[in-house]
Amino acid sequence: MKLIFATHNKNKAFEIQKLLPDTFQVLTLDDLNFHDEIPENEPTIELNSAFKANFVFNRFEENCFADDTGLEIEFLNGRPGVHSARYAGIERNSDANMNLVLREMLNAENRKARFKTVITLILNDKQHIFEGIVNGTIISEKRGENGFGYDPIFIPENESKTFAEMNLSEKNQFSHRARALEKMIHFLTNK
Ligand code: IMP
Repeated sequence: MKLIFATHNKNKAFEIQKLLPDTFQVLTLDDLNFHDEIPENEPTIELNSAFKANFVFNRFEENCFADDTGLEIEFLNGRPGVHSARYAGIERNSDANMNLVLREMLNAENRKARFKTVITLILNDKQHIFEGIVNGTIISEKRGENGFGYDPIFIPENESKTFAEMNLSEKNQFSHRARALEKMIHFLTNK
């Protein structure tokens, strides 16, 4: 079965393809010669994820899925949340985003945060939602070189290393995206 992933990111698609049986074929937007960015202007992570999946479904009329992720920090009332990619500006600069978070949390005692990924799958005209969450804390300075985004300032619950101090397989034991993905894969392979 063909499954279109609403992304231009070949690495993300490759990782999912590796976890699915060969009967599923994951295609990216570029595989379909679609090179535009899908708008991500919805007010929540859930709605952004659903918007992207429906955008692809309306265009290609094929089974498809989309993901959207955000970092929700308690002290910041859930920010950066749906604005995680562009928190410090439209350039999507991870260092600037982290610096802004660290400045805003300079005197914060409550450093609880969570990453949330929402995957929307549209299969045979029906919509299915899968959520993955990892709870943790925001530390006061960046640590580690791996990963991307806010990884250097996030430590998952009961761990001592930041996501950026872990390799990908370590991170995937906790990660929001891996957890949401696991749920979707379980659903697809048990149908
Ligand atoms: P996206 O929805 O996967 O594009 O994620 C939106 C933004 O959330 C990214 O640009 C990153 O800033 C942040 N983000 C998503 N996933 C991760 C992660 O695993 N680690 C750190 N930051 C992440």
